[in-house]
Amino acid sequence: MPTPKPEPGPFGFARISLAHLPTPLEPLDRLGAHLGMEPGALLIKRDDATGLAGGGNKARKLEYLCADAQARGCDTLVTGGGHQSNHVRMTAAAANRVGLECTVVIAGDRPAHPSGNVVLDELLGPAIIWIGPADYYAIEAAIAEESDRLTAAGRHPYAIPVGGANAIGALGYVVAARELQTQANEIGLVVVAGGSGGTHAGLAAGFGDHTLVLGIDVGARPDLDQQVPLKANEVAVLAGLNPPTGSCQIDHDQIGPGYAAPTDACREALELAARLEGVILDPVYTGKAMAGLIQAWRDGRIGASTTTVFWHTGGLPALFASAYADWVRTGSSLWTT
Ligand SMILES: *Cc1c(COP(=O)(O)O)cnc(C)c1O
Repeated sequence: MPTPKPEPGPFGFARISLAHLPTPLEPLDRLGAHLGMEPGALLIKRDDATGLAGGGNKARKLEYLCADAQARGCDTLVTGGGHQSNHVRMTAAAANRVGLECTVVIAGDRPAHPSGNVVLDELLGPAIIWIGPADYYAIEAAIAEESDRLTAAGRHPYAIPVGGANAIGALGYVVAARELQTQANEIGLVVVAGGSGGTHAGLAAGFGDHTLVLGIDVGARPDLDQQVPLKANEVAVLAGLNPPTGSCQIDHDQIGPGYAAPTDACREALELAARLEGVILDPVYTGKAMAGLIQAWRDGRIGASTTTVFWHTGGLPALFASAYADWVRTGSSLWTT
Protein backbone atom coordinates (compact mmCIF):
# COMPACT_ATOMS: atom_id res chain seq x y z
CA MET A 1 0.00 0.00 0.00
CA PRO A 2 1.27 3.52 -0.63
CA THR A 3 2.10 5.44 2.53
CA PRO A 4 -0.81 7.81 3.28
CA LYS A 5 0.17 11.48 3.38
CA PRO A 6 -1.33 14.37 5.34
CA GLU A 7 -4.05 16.16 3.42
CA PRO A 8 -6.16 19.21 4.27
CA GLY A 9 -9.05 18.14 6.52
CA PRO A 10 -12.14 19.82 8.01
CA PHE A 11 -11.72 22.93 10.22
CA GLY A 12 -8.32 23.62 8.63
CA PHE A 13 -6.55 20.66 10.26
CA ALA A 14 -4.41 18.18 8.38
CA ARG A 15 -5.51 14.58 8.54
CA ILE A 16 -3.99 11.33 7.33
CA SER A 17 -6.56 8.93 5.97
CA LEU A 18 -6.45 5.80 8.16
CA ALA A 19 -10.12 4.92 8.68
CA HIS A 20 -12.74 3.62 6.27
CA LEU A 21 -15.16 6.54 6.29
CA PRO A 22 -18.04 7.19 6.45
CA THR A 23 -18.89 4.25 8.69
CA PRO A 24 -22.36 2.75 8.12
CA LEU A 25 -25.42 3.81 10.09
CA GLU A 26 -27.71 0.79 10.39
CA PRO A 27 -31.08 0.03 12.01
CA LEU A 28 -31.22 -2.28 15.05
CA ASP A 29 -34.91 -3.09 14.60
CA ARG A 30 -34.84 -6.61 16.05
CA LEU A 31 -33.11 -5.44 19.24
CA GLY A 32 -35.37 -2.36 19.29
CA ALA A 33 -38.49 -4.54 19.02
CA HIS A 34 -37.24 -6.76 21.85
CA LEU A 35 -36.95 -3.64 24.03
CA GLY A 36 -40.37 -2.35 22.93
CA MET A 37 -39.12 0.41 20.63
CA GLU A 38 -40.72 1.48 17.34
CA PRO A 39 -39.11 0.28 14.07
CA GLY A 40 -36.42 2.78 13.05
CA ALA A 41 -36.07 4.20 16.58
CA LEU A 42 -32.80 2.39 17.39
CA LEU A 43 -29.79 2.74 15.10
CA ILE A 44 -26.14 1.77 15.31
CA LYS A 45 -23.15 3.79 14.08
CA ARG A 46 -20.56 1.24 13.03
CA ASP A 47 -17.26 2.69 14.20
CA ASP A 48 -16.26 -0.89 14.91
CA ALA A 49 -15.90 -0.98 11.12
CA THR A 50 -13.31 1.80 10.71
CA GLY A 51 -10.61 -0.70 9.74
CA LEU A 52 -7.00 -0.27 11.00
CA ALA A 53 -5.93 -3.55 12.63
CA GLY A 54 -9.40 -4.52 13.76
CA GLY A 55 -11.11 -1.15 13.92
CA GLY A 56 -12.62 1.05 16.59
CA ASN A 57 -12.95 4.65 17.65
CA LYS A 58 -9.22 5.34 17.94
CA ALA A 59 -8.84 5.30 14.13
CA ARG A 60 -10.63 8.66 13.75
CA LYS A 61 -8.49 10.26 16.47
CA LEU A 62 -5.27 8.87 15.02
CA GLU A 63 -5.97 10.47 11.63
CA TYR A 64 -5.43 13.90 13.24
CA LEU A 65 -2.80 12.83 15.78
CA CYS A 66 -0.56 11.23 13.14
CA ALA A 67 -0.86 14.29 10.87
CA ASP A 68 0.10 16.52 13.81
CA ALA A 69 3.05 14.25 14.68
CA GLN A 70 4.37 14.49 11.12
CA ALA A 71 3.80 18.26 10.94
CA ARG A 72 5.94 18.61 14.08
CA GLY A 73 8.71 16.48 12.61
CA CYS A 74 8.29 13.72 15.19
CA ASP A 75 9.63 10.25 14.49
CA THR A 76 8.07 8.12 17.27
CA LEU A 77 4.52 7.80 18.60
CA VAL A 78 4.46 7.18 22.34
CA THR A 79 1.29 6.14 24.12
CA GLY A 80 -0.07 3.69 26.65
CA GLY A 81 -3.10 2.04 28.14
CA GLY A 82 -4.57 -0.79 30.14
CA HIS A 83 -3.66 -4.42 29.58
CA GLN A 84 -6.27 -4.92 26.82
CA SER A 85 -6.00 -1.38 25.42
CA ASN A 86 -7.52 -1.00 21.96
CA HIS A 87 -5.87 2.40 21.73
CA VAL A 88 -2.40 0.86 22.11
CA ARG A 89 -3.13 -1.70 19.39
CA MET A 90 -4.46 0.89 16.96
CA THR A 91 -1.69 3.42 17.63
CA ALA A 92 0.89 0.73 16.86
CA ALA A 93 -0.96 -0.05 13.63
CA ALA A 94 -1.20 3.64 12.67
CA ALA A 95 2.54 4.10 13.24
CA ASN A 96 3.27 1.17 10.95
CA ARG A 97 0.87 2.48 8.32
CA VAL A 98 2.42 5.96 8.17
CA GLY A 99 6.04 4.93 8.77
CA LEU A 100 6.69 6.16 12.31
CA GLU A 101 8.34 4.32 15.19
CA CYS A 102 6.14 3.44 18.16
CA THR A 103 6.66 2.89 21.87
CA VAL A 104 3.79 1.78 24.12
CA VAL A 105 3.54 1.45 27.88
CA ILE A 106 1.02 -1.13 29.05
CA ALA A 107 -0.36 -1.60 32.57
CA GLY A 108 0.33 -5.01 34.07
CA ASP A 109 3.00 -7.64 33.58
CA ARG A 110 3.91 -9.34 30.34
CA PRO A 111 1.59 -12.35 30.14
CA ALA A 112 3.08 -15.82 29.72
CA HIS A 113 0.40 -16.53 27.13
CA PRO A 114 -0.76 -13.43 25.27
CA SER A 115 -4.47 -13.15 24.47
CA GLY A 116 -6.82 -10.60 22.99
CA ASN A 117 -5.25 -7.26 22.05
CA VAL A 118 -1.84 -8.34 23.37
CA VAL A 119 -1.55 -10.90 20.55
CA LEU A 120 -2.04 -8.07 18.07
CA ASP A 121 0.26 -5.68 19.98
CA GLU A 122 3.09 -8.21 19.76
CA LEU A 123 2.37 -8.87 16.09
CA LEU A 124 2.38 -5.16 15.23
CA GLY A 125 5.75 -4.90 16.94
CA PRO A 126 6.02 -1.57 18.78
CA ALA A 127 8.53 -1.30 21.63
CA ILE A 128 6.40 -2.54 24.53
CA ILE A 129 7.12 -1.53 28.11
CA TRP A 130 5.15 -3.45 30.76
CA ILE A 131 4.87 -1.14 33.76
CA GLY A 132 3.16 -3.45 36.28
CA PRO A 133 -0.15 -2.63 37.95
CA ALA A 134 -0.92 1.03 37.14
CA ASP A 135 -3.93 3.34 37.33
CA TYR A 136 -4.89 5.96 34.74
CA TYR A 137 -2.49 8.60 36.07
CA ALA A 138 0.40 6.17 36.48
CA ILE A 139 0.02 5.26 32.80
CA GLU A 140 -0.01 8.97 31.83
CA ALA A 141 3.15 9.46 33.92
CA ALA A 142 4.84 6.48 32.24
CA ILE A 143 4.05 7.93 28.79
CA ALA A 144 5.70 11.22 29.80
CA GLU A 145 8.70 9.40 31.27
CA GLU A 146 9.20 7.30 28.16
CA SER A 147 8.93 10.41 25.93
CA ASP A 148 11.62 12.14 28.03
CA ARG A 149 13.84 9.08 27.77
CA LEU A 150 13.50 9.05 23.97
CA THR A 151 14.19 12.78 23.76
CA ALA A 152 17.34 12.30 25.82
CA ALA A 153 18.35 9.57 23.35
CA GLY A 154 18.09 12.02 20.45
CA ARG A 155 14.70 10.93 19.13
CA HIS A 156 11.63 13.09 18.47
CA PRO A 157 8.74 11.51 20.35
CA TYR A 158 5.09 12.47 19.90
CA ALA A 159 3.29 11.73 23.16
CA ILE A 160 -0.35 10.71 22.84
CA PRO A 161 -2.37 10.61 26.08
CA VAL A 162 -4.33 7.51 27.15
CA GLY A 163 -7.22 7.02 24.72
CA GLY A 164 -5.88 9.72 22.39
CA ALA A 165 -7.99 12.05 24.49
CA ASN A 166 -6.55 15.46 23.75
CA ALA A 167 -8.22 18.14 21.63
CA ILE A 168 -6.41 17.10 18.43
CA GLY A 169 -7.63 13.52 18.82
CA ALA A 170 -11.15 14.61 19.72
CA LEU A 171 -11.33 16.55 16.43
CA GLY A 172 -11.95 13.17 14.83
CA TYR A 173 -15.25 12.99 16.71
CA VAL A 174 -16.25 16.58 15.96
CA VAL A 175 -16.03 15.51 12.33
CA ALA A 176 -17.81 12.22 13.11
CA ALA A 177 -20.79 14.09 14.60
CA ARG A 178 -21.11 16.01 11.33
CA GLU A 179 -20.83 12.73 9.42
CA LEU A 180 -23.77 11.29 11.38
CA GLN A 181 -25.84 14.39 10.65
CA THR A 182 -25.40 13.79 6.92
CA GLN A 183 -26.69 10.21 7.37
CA ALA A 184 -29.78 10.91 9.52
CA ASN A 185 -31.71 14.10 10.05
CA GLU A 186 -33.47 13.69 13.37
CA ILE A 187 -31.08 12.36 15.96
CA GLY A 188 -32.64 12.43 19.44
CA LEU A 189 -29.82 10.87 21.42
CA VAL A 190 -26.43 9.29 20.86
CA VAL A 191 -25.26 6.75 23.44
CA VAL A 192 -21.51 6.14 23.65
CA ALA A 193 -19.04 4.50 26.03
CA GLY A 194 -16.84 6.88 28.03
CA GLY A 195 -13.28 5.83 28.80
CA SER A 196 -10.90 8.77 28.57
CA GLY A 197 -13.85 10.89 27.43
CA GLY A 198 -12.38 12.16 24.15
CA THR A 199 -15.02 10.54 21.97
CA HIS A 200 -17.91 11.92 24.03
CA ALA A 201 -16.28 15.37 24.11
CA GLY A 202 -15.75 15.46 20.35
CA LEU A 203 -19.32 14.37 19.62
CA ALA A 204 -20.81 16.98 21.99
CA ALA A 205 -18.67 19.69 20.41
CA GLY A 206 -19.58 18.53 16.91
CA PHE A 207 -23.32 18.59 17.66
CA GLY A 208 -22.90 21.85 19.60
CA ASP A 209 -25.23 20.40 22.22
CA HIS A 210 -24.40 18.26 25.25
CA THR A 211 -27.98 17.04 25.62
CA LEU A 212 -27.73 14.96 22.41
CA VAL A 213 -25.06 12.68 23.91
CA LEU A 214 -25.37 10.23 26.80
CA GLY A 215 -21.99 8.90 27.90
CA ILE A 216 -21.78 5.62 29.78
CA ASP A 217 -18.83 5.67 32.17
CA VAL A 218 -16.86 2.41 32.10
CA GLY A 219 -14.67 3.37 35.06
CA ALA A 220 -11.41 4.10 33.26
CA ARG A 221 -10.78 7.45 34.98
CA PRO A 222 -12.30 8.95 38.13
CA ASP A 223 -12.79 12.50 36.78
CA LEU A 224 -14.85 11.83 33.65
CA ASP A 225 -17.58 14.31 34.73
CA GLN A 226 -15.03 17.13 34.75
CA GLN A 227 -13.00 16.00 31.74
CA VAL A 228 -15.75 15.61 29.15
CA PRO A 229 -17.13 19.19 29.35
CA LEU A 230 -13.58 20.56 29.62
CA LYS A 231 -12.39 18.66 26.54
CA ALA A 232 -15.57 19.49 24.66
CA ASN A 233 -14.94 23.22 25.16
CA GLU A 234 -11.27 22.81 24.27
CA VAL A 235 -11.94 20.97 21.00
CA ALA A 236 -14.75 23.39 20.09
CA VAL A 237 -12.30 26.30 20.41
CA LEU A 238 -9.73 24.38 18.36
CA ALA A 239 -12.29 23.80 15.60
CA GLY A 240 -13.53 27.40 15.73
CA LEU A 241 -16.97 26.40 17.03
CA ASN A 242 -19.02 27.70 19.94
CA PRO A 243 -18.78 25.59 23.12
CA PRO A 244 -21.64 23.07 23.26
CA THR A 245 -24.84 24.19 24.99
CA GLY A 246 -26.69 22.25 27.69
CA SER A 247 -25.20 20.12 30.41
CA CYS A 248 -23.04 17.06 29.96
CA GLN A 249 -24.81 13.74 30.60
CA ILE A 250 -22.83 10.82 32.00
CA ASP A 251 -24.29 7.68 33.53
CA HIS A 252 -22.07 5.98 36.15
CA ASP A 253 -24.31 2.98 36.89
CA GLN A 254 -22.68 0.40 34.60
CA ILE A 255 -19.12 0.29 35.98
CA GLY A 256 -19.79 -2.62 38.35
CA PRO A 257 -16.75 -3.69 40.40
CA GLY A 258 -14.44 -1.57 38.24
CA TYR A 259 -12.87 -0.86 34.85
CA ALA A 260 -12.93 -3.98 32.66
CA ALA A 261 -14.77 -5.97 35.36
CA PRO A 262 -17.55 -8.13 33.93
CA THR A 263 -21.15 -7.35 34.97
CA ASP A 264 -24.41 -9.23 34.41
CA ALA A 265 -25.92 -6.25 32.60
CA CYS A 266 -22.95 -6.16 30.23
CA ARG A 267 -23.30 -9.84 29.50
CA GLU A 268 -27.05 -9.44 28.84
CA ALA A 269 -26.21 -6.64 26.37
CA LEU A 270 -23.57 -8.77 24.62
CA GLU A 271 -26.02 -11.62 24.27
CA LEU A 272 -28.92 -9.50 23.02
CA ALA A 273 -26.78 -7.74 20.39
CA ALA A 274 -25.21 -10.99 19.23
CA ARG A 275 -28.39 -13.09 19.14
CA LEU A 276 -30.84 -10.52 17.80
CA GLU A 277 -28.58 -8.59 15.45
CA GLY A 278 -25.37 -10.58 14.88
CA VAL A 279 -23.52 -7.57 16.32
CA ILE A 280 -20.57 -8.29 18.61
CA LEU A 281 -19.98 -5.97 21.55
CA ASP A 282 -16.99 -6.08 23.90
CA PRO A 283 -16.80 -6.66 27.66
CA VAL A 284 -14.95 -3.42 28.58
CA TYR A 285 -16.68 -0.61 26.67
CA THR A 286 -19.49 -1.29 24.24
CA GLY A 287 -21.20 -4.01 26.30
CA LYS A 288 -21.47 -1.59 29.23
CA ALA A 289 -22.54 1.23 26.91
CA MET A 290 -25.36 -0.91 25.48
CA ALA A 291 -26.31 -1.96 29.03
CA GLY A 292 -26.54 1.76 29.84
CA LEU A 293 -28.75 2.40 26.81
CA ILE A 294 -31.06 -0.48 27.79
CA GLN A 295 -31.26 0.78 31.40
CA ALA A 296 -32.00 4.36 30.28
CA TRP A 297 -34.82 3.03 28.06
CA ARG A 298 -36.26 0.83 30.81
CA ASP A 299 -36.11 3.79 33.25
CA GLY A 300 -38.09 5.93 30.80
CA ARG A 301 -35.13 8.29 30.30
CA ILE A 302 -35.30 7.70 26.52
CA GLY A 303 -38.60 8.83 25.01
CA ALA A 304 -40.72 6.48 22.88
CA SER A 305 -40.31 8.75 19.85
CA THR A 306 -36.61 9.49 20.37
CA THR A 307 -34.35 8.34 17.54
CA THR A 308 -31.48 6.77 19.46
CA VAL A 309 -28.08 6.00 17.96
CA PHE A 310 -25.84 3.48 19.70
CA TRP A 311 -22.29 4.47 18.77
CA HIS A 312 -20.30 1.23 18.42
CA THR A 313 -16.71 2.09 19.28
CA GLY A 314 -15.10 -1.30 18.55
CA GLY A 315 -13.14 -3.36 21.07
CA LEU A 316 -13.76 -6.84 19.66
CA PRO A 317 -10.22 -8.17 20.36
CA ALA A 318 -10.74 -7.79 24.13
CA LEU A 319 -13.47 -10.42 23.88
CA PHE A 320 -10.71 -12.93 23.09
CA ALA A 321 -8.77 -12.10 26.25
CA SER A 322 -8.43 -15.25 28.35
CA ALA A 323 -9.88 -13.42 31.38
CA TYR A 324 -13.33 -13.36 29.74
CA ALA A 325 -13.52 -16.80 28.16
CA ASP A 326 -15.51 -18.47 30.96
CA TRP A 327 -17.66 -15.40 31.47
CA VAL A 328 -18.69 -15.39 27.83
CA ARG A 329 -19.55 -19.08 27.97
CA THR A 330 -21.25 -19.37 31.33
CA GLY A 331 -21.74 -15.92 32.82
CA SER A 332 -19.35 -16.67 35.66
CA SER A 333 -15.88 -15.27 35.57
CA LEU A 334 -12.34 -15.80 36.76
CA TRP A 335 -11.74 -12.12 36.16
CA THR A 336 -9.45 -10.46 38.70
CA THR A 337 -8.02 -6.96 38.86
C1 LIG B 1 -11.08 3.76 23.87
C2 LIG B 1 -12.39 3.11 23.69
C3 LIG B 1 -13.58 3.72 24.11
C4 LIG B 1 -13.59 4.99 24.88
O1 LIG B 1 -13.29 6.12 24.12
P1 LIG B 1 -12.76 7.40 24.85
O2 LIG B 1 -12.64 8.41 23.80
O3 LIG B 1 -11.44 7.04 25.48
O4 LIG B 1 -13.75 7.77 25.92
C5 LIG B 1 -14.78 3.11 23.85
N1 LIG B 1 -14.82 1.91 23.23
C6 LIG B 1 -13.71 1.28 22.83
C7 LIG B 1 -13.86 -0.05 22.19
C8 LIG B 1 -12.46 1.85 23.04
O5 LIG B 1 -11.35 1.19 22.65
